[in-house]
Amino acid sequence: MGHVDFLAVIVAAGSGQRAGPGGAKQWRPLRGRPVARWSLEALLAAGARRVVVVIAPGDEAVAAAAFAGLAGWRLAPGGATRDRSVIAGLEALDAAADDIVLVHDAARPLVETRHIEALIAALAHADGALPALAVADTLKRAAPGAEVTATVDRAGLWRAQTPQAFRAGRLAAAYDAWPAGESPTDDAAVVERYGGRIVLTAGDPRLMKLTYPEDFAMADLLAGDATATRIGQGFDAHRFGPGDGVWLCGVLIAHDRALIGHSDADAGLHALTDALLGAIGEGDIGDHFPPSDPQWRGVASSVFLTHAAELIAARGGRVVNVDVTLICERPKIKPHRQAMRARLAELLGLPLDRVSVKATTTEAMGFTGREEGLAAQAVASVELPG
Ligand code: MG
Repeated sequence: MGHVDFLAVIVAAGSGQRAGPGGAKQWRPLRGRPVARWSLEALLAAGARRVVVVIAPGDEAVAAAAFAGLAGWRLAPGGATRDRSVIAGLEALDAAADDIVLVHDAARPLVETRHIEALIAALAHADGALPALAVADTLKRAAPGAEVTATVDRAGLWRAQTPQAFRAGRLAAAYDAWPAGESPTDDAAVVERYGGRIVLTAGDPRLMKLTYPEDFAMADLLAGDATATRIGQGFDAHRFGPGDGVWLCGVLIAHDRALIGHSDADAGLHALTDALLGAIGEGDIGDHFPPSDPQWRGVASSVFLTHAAELIAARGGRVVNVDVTLICERPKIKPHRQAMRARLAELLGLPLDRVSVKATTTEAMGFTGREEGLAAQAVASVELPG
């Protein structure tokens, strides 16, 4: 679906006492990022025009630190209960009645664009939409003391998750009409009570709520599953010309000829740079370093590789492994392979066993066989946040 404009409220005002020691759960780290930041980043990445994060009074500094570097959010002080906090967030959001607003619990950090898109699509024919999971376990009712008093029919029962999507005017009106003294546990219940039609979208175990201390370990596992593995491949060739050495994979090898090119003509680094760029869909080396630009004349090709690696890091990704094959009759590559691997490992910040350099000839056939030039191909595996 195309881009849809929406606003969001993240409820991060809880004290999280059930989550054990270590402070409120929304500010604790999950894989190096505060829990609440995961949701804010996800909503902004999905296209949220504005996000209000409702926090407990006194949490302003910890929130500002948690969201450092992000734009498009503001804070609002929460109330004594979740519903009071949502109302405060809606007021701070300053939305038009027709605006789509998503209300999300900060304690559900693993929300993704696809969840949000499904909710907004469902809102086209409903007054509210929420992700929900069918109840799979048999449900028991038990008295204090753990004695079972009944088995509850689970047919038609669903576990409500967030974010939940509404039109801002409808949600605000529903909260206005909500009886004082009652505390709804989600926002859909409020619109429901007001006569709104609520629909379910596909829930996701990844939308789990961090409630108990052990939930952090589960979320950590699920967050790890979020990484997407990408593959990129590259190919390059350069012509031999007069000279006394060739650059290959960042290593200068003595030879009776040189490789001709705009930069240092390091076909190994060029193929590998294209593989990294390919893995993240960032075009090719010529897009980033046009041959027409004189500043790249004679430059060390390590600059190109480092740039591609930085683009991956900027997306929160990492290079998993790389594999380069050099294709030539001469110079002989084998004596230099370990130095090439070490240089590539150094440039990419990888352990040696994740860097491979191989070589082959073409049995005297073709342009490499006739020693007119040298070719290189490379593949790279990259992990990006899912
Ligand atoms: Mg090249």
